[in-house]
Amino acid sequence: AKAAGRGNFQFFSADMNAATHERLLLESRLWQALDQGEFELFLQAQIELDSGRVIGAEALLRWHHPELGLVGPDRFIPIAEESGLILPLGDWVLKRAVQLLDRWRGMGLGHVRLAVNLSARQCHGTGLLAQLDSLLTSTGIDPALLELEITESAAMQDPERSRGLLQQLRSRGIKVAIDDFGTGYSSLSYLKLFELDRIKIDRGFVKDIETDPDDAVIVAATIGLAHALGLEVIAEGVETQAQASFLRSKHCDEAQGYLFARPGTLAEFEALAAAPARA
Ligand code: C2E
Ligand code: CA
Ligand code: CA
Ligand code: CA
Repeated sequence: AKAAGRGNFQFFSADMNAATHERLLLESRLWQALDQGEFELFLQAQIELDSGRVIGAEALLRWHHPELGLVGPDRFIPIAEESGLILPLGDWVLKRAVQLLDRWRGMGLGHVRLAVNLSARQCHGTGLLAQLDSLLTSTGIDPALLELEITESAAMQDPERSRGLLQQLRSRGIKVAIDDFGTGYSSLSYLKLFELDRIKIDRGFVKDIETDPDDAVIVAATIGLAHALGLEVIAEGVETQAQASFLRSKHCDEAQGYLFARPGTLAEFEALAAAPARA
């Protein structure tokens, strides 16, 4: 028993060391990474379900780490949040996003909307509105082409403040979407508290739409409720044709997921957005 115990301990400890090692590798380079140009925005298409057309994209951060290769945001956003780097990083993401909208306007993709994820710290900090104003006026981009995604949990860290921020964003014509809708503790109260344009139904509800009758009912009712409140609906994590058909039959406006496209490079997204619709 003793030997097994020690074995377990060693196993656990080796595991911890690997995790700690990775974290140190990430942490130590995180601040430099922004200066070194190691971040990239991947883009994932958003599809209008009626027409099959690409009507937008979500910007998803990636980090080209010199030793670890391509690193996804789940591995470094939490570290960036803790260390405060999320603020300059979030600024970079917004700046790059507006650059992309500007680029698309010049290449016949001027109708394509771009959605950007906001961290809790960005929402509750002070610089966001001023930065957006300066980016939008310097480029003359239509604010309605920019959508900001905020999660329920970020919004609820300071509901009154979030409410004010969302009002300010919408008064500028910027679109606001609630991300991961349905995963919070009081999703319905957000609909009343916040002025929104769109809700994003969380992947967790879409996943079992065909097999779990409860999920199917929840998704259908959420779409109906959102529409009755004048909101648009996008479903995330759509992986199968059957899920897309179900969503279309319930009049879900848009969808995003591996069925249509995985997050990819700018060039990949632009090729897809320029191609004819495949409904
Ligand atoms: P999210 O906002 O919920 O983004 C959707 C995630 O689901 C993305 O993961 C995307 O690659 C993945 N996904 C899309 N379609 C499918 C599908 O059909 N099936 C499955 N299984 N997954 C799908 P990703 O790119 O790893 O991003 C993870 C999270 O990192 C995002 O979740 C978002 O919360 C955060 N994030 C990404 N970019 C940024 C950013 O620029 N700023 C901030 N603050 N957070 C970001
Ligand atoms: Ca998102
Ligand atoms: Ca989401
Ligand atoms: Ca999510």
